[in-house]
Amino acid sequence: MDAKVSIVPCDEYTLEKAIAALTCVLEPLGGLSWVKQGMKIVIKANLVMKKSPAAAATTHPILIEALAKMLTEKGASVIIGDSPGGIYTLPYLSLIYNATGMTALENKKKGIFLNRNFEVGEAVYPDGAVLKSFQYTKFLDEADAIINFCKLKTHGMMAYSGACKNLFGAIPGTRKPEYHYHYPKHDDFANILVDLVEYFKPTLHIADAVYGMEGNGPTAGTPRFIGALLASKNPHALDVAGAHIMGLQAKDVPTLSAAVKRGLTPDSVSNLQIYGKLEDFIVPDYKTVDARKITQIRSHGKIVNKTLETLLNHKPVLKYPEKCIGCKECFKTCPAKAIEMVDKKPVINKKTCIRCFCCQEFCPVGALGVHRSVIARVLSK
Ligand code: SF4
Ligand code: SF4
Repeated sequence: MDAKVSIVPCDEYTLEKAIAALTCVLEPLGGLSWVKQGMKIVIKANLVMKKSPAAAATTHPILIEALAKMLTEKGASVIIGDSPGGIYTLPYLSLIYNATGMTALENKKKGIFLNRNFEVGEAVYPDGAVLKSFQYTKFLDEADAIINFCKLKTHGMMAYSGACKNLFGAIPGTRKPEYHYHYPKHDDFANILVDLVEYFKPTLHIADAVYGMEGNGPTAGTPRFIGALLASKNPHALDVAGAHIMGLQAKDVPTLSAAVKRGLTPDSVSNLQIYGKLEDFIVPDYKTVDARKITQIRSHGKIVNKTLETLLNHKPVLKYPEKCIGCKECFKTCPAKAIEMVDKKPVINKKTCIRCFCCQEFCPVGALGVHRSVIARVLSK
């Protein structure tokens, strides 16, 4: 198992600093020596939503620009892409490319392209733990290699979003709710994410942790300065280190628990081979989402009563009704049809809600949040 993780300081988004930090972070992993003239390389960014780079929800364009420059100088061409939630079409993705700062990066003469292939492929994956067949964004087939460039963030459902979670973007946006609906259990959904990253096997994983997102992630949280870039050839090892920065352990993050069980990563940073001073980047008061801890309490058999289980579950709530603009995005996104719009505000049916947090993720104004009861907070300590 490759357990090498590299981390270097990067304290601002400037091209000069980004190139220097990327060069440095990749050096212990062999740099970009594997890149050959004429290769096509997909940079799988996190473009989760129509948000400006300053919101820290998406991979910062300066870092993508720096990486694309380094790759094209070695004679490769680059395709930048992702499939966020919502329709997977050029008009919709153009809005995302514009908002996230990607449009300005396209330079056809230099061999830097934004993905414009919106075909959907069919994959069969008998080795998948849960995901045996699935539809995916076919532009990934064009790649001789994929570089997974994620963003470190909190996540309402999965607690943490990093390298592994970023590959959910390989599923076309309109298909994503089906996975939430058919696999509502966190462990199954986590295994789907692990299956995806293992199926596509990106050559390299890099995390934008200059500014991460804390609190109401992955789209409505608050930017939090970390000042680092991380890289690894093992997505799960990178995530063990990324979660550690936020004060989370592997057992707190469903995708990491699944990866540890499958023998894909050590379960703690003490068993990683770290290049750089990881401990220098720990943010002691990082505001996380406690999703996983509650699940553990249940799975350890301490909670058997259904009413108590309902009490302990974290759930979506209209946390900031004054922010709600009545756009119905939550209503349209909900895979369980658990939302009714009443007086232009969402009302969530607690019985049918599967706690996938798609509504919270895709609310454009961050009006929805994650609620934990007092008892859940106490028990999860
Ligand atoms: S209400 Fe929100 S969390 Fe519940 S099922 Fe619908 S989208 Fe998922
Ligand atoms: S997505 Fe957000 S703003 Fe839109 S209706 Fe739902 S809660 Fe309100």
